[in-house]
Amino acid sequence: MIVIETIPDMAYLRNNLKEPVGFVPTMGFLHEGHMSLVKKARSENKTVVVSIYVNPTQFGPKEDLSKYPRDLPRDLAMLEKEGADVVFFPSDKEMYPDGYDTWVTVDNLTKPLEGDSRPTHFRGVTTIVNKLFNIVRPTNAYFGQKDAQQVLVVKKMAADLNMNLKVVVCPTIREPDGLAMSSRNVYLNPEQRKAAPVLNKSLLLAKELFIGGQRDAAVILKQMTSLIQKEPLADIDYISISDTATLAELKTISQSALISMAVRFGNTRLIDNILLG
Ligand code: AMP
Repeated sequence: MIVIETIPDMAYLRNNLKEPVGFVPTMGFLHEGHMSLVKKARSENKTVVVSIYVNPTQFGPKEDLSKYPRDLPRDLAMLEKEGADVVFFPSDKEMYPDGYDTWVTVDNLTKPLEGDSRPTHFRGVTTIVNKLFNIVRPTNAYFGQKDAQQVLVVKKMAADLNMNLKVVVCPTIREPDGLAMSSRNVYLNPEQRKAAPVLNKSLLLAKELFIGGQRDAAVILKQMTSLIQKEPLADIDYISISDTATLAELKTISQSALISMAVRFGNTRLIDNILLG
């Protein structure tokens, strides 16, 4: 496994990589969710490139950039074991040199949900993903359904900007008690950690209601909200039932829906989602 820290080195190496090239962008502090993407990439490509970069521009001014968890030696050991070929680990200076001035934005899809709570988040995501795509030039790029809106936004960017690659979406990997794996789960204290599976429980409740024939979004949202509110440590940021393609809020579910949510436990904000239909 080769670890590369500069863009010229990555660009040089890229010309000699065996095709197809699978790419997994991450912010590090890896867990089984990330590794499921690496496994999928390994199974579909001759070369697997993983990036580890905590992208400052996708964090808001009051967010957790400086204390975002990091453990490079552990990440590298996990990636080596999983058979990654190349790890791209650039510095901030490398990605955003002095005078950096170009931004990529997807317009309407980034307005609701996460975009509403984190107004500058997706501009940072699409800009860095675009830069990484230009540097790594992957055949296939792997993203987790855990970040459902991010998947839609990246797919839209790739289509609208005619990017010559395939975006592959992988299912959300969960802890045994249902909590979606996330690097941010380490912020939870033991009580919050015990309470956090309520997100998944509320999503499963929604699924059960849907399977039972319930199609009224307000009814489903009400039951989900009251389940989460029974958990005193949980503070709901949003719960949404939206169109799976446009993210427009639905009153009635016809064929399918994305149910997504952000819930705070103290200072820690967790997101989760489920696709219905
Ligand atoms: P991050 O390091 O949080 O930026 O995540 C890097 C990639 O891993 C993104 O495509 C995430 O959607 C994906 N990911 C994070 N957590 C999970 C999970 N629990 N299951 C599947 N994919 C995940």
